[in-house]
Amino acid sequence: MDNTNALRVAFPHNQAEEESDVNFVGDYIRRQEEIEDGLAFHPIPPIKLVIPEDQAYFPTPMVTFLIDTVDKLRCQICQEVELRFPRENNSLEGITPPAITPCGHVACFPCLSGWIRERLDCPFCRKPMMHAACGHAVEPRIIAWETITRLPKTLIRGGTIGAECRPCLAERLKQIFWVQMGNAATSVMNTRRTIFDAHPAPRMYAEQVFQDLPRQYRAQVIEQQQW
Ligand SMILES: [Zn+2]
Ligand SMILES: [Zn+2]
Ligand SMILES: [Zn+2]
Repeated sequence: MDNTNALRVAFPHNQAEEESDVNFVGDYIRRQEEIEDGLAFHPIPPIKLVIPEDQAYFPTPMVTFLIDTVDKLRCQICQEVELRFPRENNSLEGITPPAITPCGHVACFPCLSGWIRERLDCPFCRKPMMHAACGHAVEPRIIAWETITRLPKTLIRGGTIGAECRPCLAERLKQIFWVQMGNAATSVMNTRRTIFDAHPAPRMYAEQVFQDLPRQYRAQVIEQQQW
């Protein structure tokens, strides 16, 4: 896959343009943050945000795709796939879904994940897209009705790329969990053997730890807020 030249044409490096982009992006993010944080003291003017078809940067995807109206966007890597954004009950069947990187860049999922796996950076801004501890590529997240409220924050909004990718982290948590379950089971058995019924507190404590572990583990797995 060599879309580097196509991207250079689509996104020429131009200092003046870059600076004006920064101002525009700054205003845009401030406005989106006000909406998201509910801190807008003044009513938001009823201006429909018109997003150009070649836009690829969305630092606050939940606001952009659930509040602003985005009609038509095209994948800026293949220039072919029309990116369709979540509507209620929108099925992913038969469509090529859009996906987002931690830096807030959006393209079609096959283009974005293929590029990152091969080159370990973002095709738009060249930010490294690798998990430091395990060395795996960062997986861009699909933007769909079921997933958009669970996306981690983009980097500019305070999100972070985890040291491990999600499968590696899940595997490590699972290993830790089974060691803890083994230890907890052993201490329940030990307290049953050695603690007299007149003083049941240590045994009850050991049983409580044993009972609580699976719930704690599930909460840890579900609450992964990192990329
Ligand atoms: Zn594409
Ligand atoms: Zn990027
Ligand atoms: Zn990994």
